[in-house]
This record gives sequence, structure tokens and C-alpha cells, in this order.
Amino acid sequence: MPPPPLSARALRLSRLLSRPGFHVFLTGLLMVLGFALAHRLSERSGREQLAALSMERLELYASNLAAELGRHAYLPSLLAIDPTLQALMQTPADEARRRATSQMLARVNVRAGTHQIFVADAHGEVVAASEALAPPPRLAEALMQQRSHFFAADPSTGSTDLYLLHPLRQAGRTAGVIVVRFNLAPLEATWVDLGLRSQGERILLADEQDVVIMSSVQAWKYAVLDHADPSRRQALQASGRYPQAVGPDLDLPASLEAHQARQVQLPLAGSQPLLAQQRQIVALGLRLVALSDLSEVKQRAQVAAWGGAAFGASAGLLILYLSSRRRALRQLTTAQGELRQAHAQLEQLVDSRTAELRQTNEALKSQIAQRLQTEGELLQASKLAVLGQMSAGLSHEVNQPLTALRALARNSIRLLEAGRTDAVTANLKIMDDMVERMSQITRQLKSFARKADEQPIGSTALLDGVRNGLLLLEHRSRALALQVEVDVPAGLRVRAEANRLEQVLVNLFGNAIDAMQHEARRCLRVRAAAEDGGQRVRVQVQDTGAGIAEADLPRLFEPFFTTKPPGEGLGLGLVISAKIVHEFGGTLRAERLEPGMSFEFDLAVDTWTAAVETNDV
Ligand code: ADP
Repeated sequence: MPPPPLSARALRLSRLLSRPGFHVFLTGLLMVLGFALAHRLSERSGREQLAALSMERLELYASNLAAELGRHAYLPSLLAIDPTLQALMQTPADEARRRATSQMLARVNVRAGTHQIFVADAHGEVVAASEALAPPPRLAEALMQQRSHFFAADPSTGSTDLYLLHPLRQAGRTAGVIVVRFNLAPLEATWVDLGLRSQGERILLADEQDVVIMSSVQAWKYAVLDHADPSRRQALQASGRYPQAVGPDLDLPASLEAHQARQVQLPLAGSQPLLAQQRQIVALGLRLVALSDLSEVKQRAQVAAWGGAAFGASAGLLILYLSSRRRALRQLTTAQGELRQAHAQLEQLVDSRTAELRQTNEALKSQIAQRLQTEGELLQASKLAVLGQMSAGLSHEVNQPLTALRALARNSIRLLEAGRTDAVTANLKIMDDMVERMSQITRQLKSFARKADEQPIGSTALLDGVRNGLLLLEHRSRALALQVEVDVPAGLRVRAEANRLEQVLVNLFGNAIDAMQHEARRCLRVRAAAEDGGQRVRVQVQDTGAGIAEADLPRLFEPFFTTKPPGEGLGLGLVISAKIVHEFGGTLRAERLEPGMSFEFDLAVDTWTAAVETNDV
């Protein structure tokens, strides 16, 4: 099936697709697209995974913190109902009670594992304490605000302490407060340790003023989360909450919402991208912020992007391969179609040539038929011409003796009447000769008119034919003292009928002897020479006789052409001989020699045995 023709649009598209520049462009485009897509997808999924992981950790830190802080939440209220303390509140100035209370608080402090437990009066003056540590600067403020807890820096350790407060009531009014001081340094130490172990994870805890009070990165401690202008910074500094100067700004976006991951770049953390997530610890008024390193995600996205680019390049190459394969297939189909068309044309050509040949053949056949008809007509005409010539010759040959016979017969009648019998006898002898001559003519004519045998021609030894012929004429050759030379191989048998071959040879020998009668040198030569590589033999009969005139040569084979005097030649010998040779499949030819004549004819060789014998007769 030939390929369907392409529409103009499809053809344009196919041309465009087959341009090498287009494939380079397409491959480049696919690479860029693959790069961008893989980068985007990988980064997004990496970020989502990291955000989920970070959120999990954030929850873990938050619950850990809540558990740690809540561990001692019950302690102030429990101590508030202690009788020793109750008694102290009644007489705060009693030194013995103060000491007893301090001893009790020291025991509880040790057992509970807290940092310090103390009791303060309504003005914030410490009346009993487990340890002789300075009270926090914010105590008065907390009492005023009736807070249940607050954070304050411990200048001696540089860490942040959590203070849990419980009011001590006496006669319906707040007589004092019991304070449990809890140090967060051990918890922070675990954060630092965890932060060191997992390079990419940073955690920080900010108070209600957005100042970092705990962090896995020590350099961030007491930094402001977002941004602090000079006046705020001054106020924070003056509040005395923090053991050291308020640090630089972290520049975290103020819009950071809970449970929402956001990419940030903090100047303090170098320029690497971080994923920030925060969680509020409402009960304590704190913010827990987790910052995860995005560089690994970025690196993975980069690798995935190159993978995508490689995929794009492969897709481009695949398209190139498919399009060139499609083009090759189309070319193959076109070539097949053309081949089929050429084949059909060739078949058509062969058909038309065959038809032409058939026509030519028919024309040739009809020409041959016409020619055969013409040849038949010509043969008929030539036969008629021969018949005309023969009848002219015949009438001449027969009329003469007939006239003479008639005259002689009349003469004999008169001589008989006169009684001259001897003269009649002489006349009758002449008449007998004449009749003999006429019968000779009839015999020869019969021989000429004789049809060729239908039987296949047999074979005969050529040398036998030559010898027999010479034998028949021996009386004449001896009388003329003829020199005869025969050069005919003894083992040569020719395709001819013996008697008629002899008739030809006798005729040729006879003519040669006639021609040499008056010559001084009389030599008859008979030769046989191989022709056609031994397939045929050429027989030559040559004499040294008078020969014939050049002008008479073409007439030699005309019936009744003779140069011999009347009564000696009929002019039929050569015609009959040529006819016989023709029947044997050969041709009789004549040639003039200096002196004499040469007659030669060719015959098919039957066998030619190796024994070659030359005989001179
Ligand atoms: P005929 O011998 O009866 O004349 P042929 O047909 O045999 O008839 O010969 C025709 C003529 O050809 C002869 O009359 C003669 O003139 C010429 N001819 C034939 N053979 C020879 C020869 N060997 N030499 C010269 N003339 C020849």
C-alpha cells in the first residue's frame, strides 16, 4: 500500500521535525523544562517532608518543656498549706520560726530538685529561704501583678530561671508569697546537645517580650526575635530581666504563624536558607521556634533537577530517534512504492514489447509466407523458362533427325522401288544411328526430369566412385594417353548415392577429356580436401584442356548450352550434374584455369578414417 499523501500542514510539520536545528532546540527545551520541573517538585516535597518532621520535633520540644515546667507546678500550693509556713505568716518577725521554715524549705528543695524555695512577705522581702540567694529583681513586679510565674535571668549562671509563685493568705489578705525557683539550664543543655548532634535543627524559646531566653544556639541567647528599635531595646535592657545585654535582632518575620512553615534567611545564621516554624505555649506566654536547615533539601533538589534535565535530554533524543525512524520508514515506503511502480512500468513495457514482437513475428510469418509464395511462383516461372529453353533445344535436336529420317525413309522407298537394296541398307543404318541419338536425348531428359529420391541419402566411398568413373572412360583416356592424378583418401565416405555420384564424375571427366582432345598436354587431376573442420569435403576435377571463353562461364549451367559440334554435345550434362550435387546438399561451381578448367563441388563427410591412401590411376 502506498503511504497516504500528507496534508500541507502535516508536510510543514514533518519538514520542521526533520530539521536538525529543531531537534537541538527541542532537546535543550526539554532539558530546561525537566530541570525546572524536577527542581520545583523535589524542593516542594523536600520542604513538606522537612516541615512535617520539624513540626513533630517542635511538638516534642513543647511537650518536653511543658512536662519539665509542670513537674513542680504543684509545689508552691502544696507548701502553702504547710503548718510551719502558716505559723511563720502569723509572726513573720519570729526568728526561730524563720529558721525552722528555712530548714524545712531546704529539705523540700533538695527532695524536689529545685533551685531555690523562699518565702517573701507582701513587700517582697525574703523571710525564709532554702538557700541564701539574692531574690530576683522582678519579684516585686510579679507580686504586684499577682502572677503565678515569671522568668528571670540568673546573673551568676547566665541562665534563665523560672519562678513559680503562690500567694500566702492570712485573714483574707495576701500576707506573702511562696516562690519556687527552677533553673532551666539543664533543659537548655539537652537542647544544645541535640542541636549539636543534628546539625540542621535549631530551637529557641522566646518570652512574651520576644526575647530569646533559651536556645540550642548560644549566640542567639537574648537576641530579639524580630526587630527592636533603640527605645524598645533600652526598655528591655532597663527591665533587668536578662543577665546580659539584649542581643542583636534575629529578623524573624513578625507574620510567622503557628504551625506554618516559612523559609527565612537570618543574618545571624549566615546566608543559608532556613525553614522556620513556631508554636505558642500559651500557658507560659512563650513562643517555641524551630529553624531547620534547608540546604540539604536544596542540594537534593539540585540533584533531582539534573536528573530531570537528563530525563529531558533522553526524551529529546528519543523524539529524535523516533522521528528519524519514522522518516526512514516513510522513505522506505516511498522507495518501495517507487519500486513497485517501476516494476509495474517494466511489466507494462515487457507486455507492450511482447505484443510488438508478436506483431513483428506475425508480420515476418506473413512475409515468409509471401516470399514462399513468390519463390514458388518464381520456381514455377523458372521451370517454365527452363521448359521453354528445353523445348527450343529439344525441337532443334529432334526436328533435325526427324526431317532427316523422313527424307531417308522416302528415299529408301524409292530405292526399294528401284531395287537398290544395298542403298536401302545404308539408309536404314543411318536411320538407326539417328533413332539411337534421339533415344539418348530422351534418356538424358528423363534423368534430368527424374525426381529426387524421397529415401534418405546413404553413404559411399568417394575413391570408389572416382575409380569407376575413370574406368568407364578408360578407352578414351588411353587413346589420348591421358595423365591422370587422383588425390582422394581411401577411408573417406561421403553422404551421396553411388550411381548418381558416378554420373556426375563421369560427366565431369568426359567434358575434361573432350576439352583436352587437341591439346598437347593432357592431365586430369582429381582431389578431395577437407572443409569445415572435416565435416565436409571439397572435390575438384581439373584439366589442362582448351577451357571456355570468359563470357561463356555464366552460361555453363544453362540447359542445352554447348560448344560442342552437333551430335557430340547436348548441353544437359552440367545441368543434370548440378542438380544431383544439389540433391546431395552441395553446390557445383566452375572456374577458369590457365590453362584448362576446374570444376568443384562439396559433399557432407560420412566417415573419414585415419588410414589415408592416395592412389594414382
Ligand atoms: P555437352 O558436354 O553435352 O556440351 P555439358 O553440359 O556437359 O554439355 O557441357 C556444356 C558445355 O560446357 C560444353 O559444350 C563445353 O563447351 C563446356 N565445357 C564443359 N566442360 C568443359 C571443360 N572441361 N573444358 C572446356 N569446356 C567445357
